[in-house]
Amino acid sequence: MNYPSILLSLCLTLSTSNLYADDHTHEHEEHGAHEHGAATLALAVGEEGLEIMLESPAANIVGFEHAATTDADKQKLADAVKKLKAGAELFSMNTEAGCTLKSAEVVSALLGNAAETANEAHNDMDVTWSFACTQPAELKEVAVKLFAAFPDGFQHIKAEWVTDKGASAVELDKDDTLKLTP
Ligand SMILES: [Zn+2]
Repeated sequence: MNYPSILLSLCLTLSTSNLYADDHTHEHEEHGAHEHGAATLALAVGEEGLEIMLESPAANIVGFEHAATTDADKQKLADAVKKLKAGAELFSMNTEAGCTLKSAEVVSALLGNAAETANEAHNDMDVTWSFACTQPAELKEVAVKLFAAFPDGFQHIKAEWVTDKGASAVELDKDDTLKLTP
């Protein structure tokens, strides 16, 4: 697979999961409960490095989903964002790949930077980490440390990845190392 087709697969993967997430959210809004503890992690290896995207209920990360109005809640939200932005603490790759964190973006209605405004009952938090890698072809393992970082939040995370060699997925229920082989 060449680079454009990797991007295409990623776009297809992402748009599929976004459509699913939207359906899911609407269903949940109607029924008043989405699945706390669950999240989706998507990894894409390209020519420049690795991009990791997390879609999660905010409760998994912050401990609540209502708009932060008290100082205590605002502090919890700020702490969570800080922890998320320290992506090198949450993921580590095999050293041969030479990856370093380039950027981390956190999007949530709770932060006022999402397309939608805060829902009264349930809100998500989505994060995108970009790692630049000097030898992306050497990228074979990604250790996920989200469970330890947010011990009261995640119960299971569906991790899916796309590389130039193929794509696969696995369900995590604790911190583990993803082997990026088809
Ligand atoms: Zn919720």
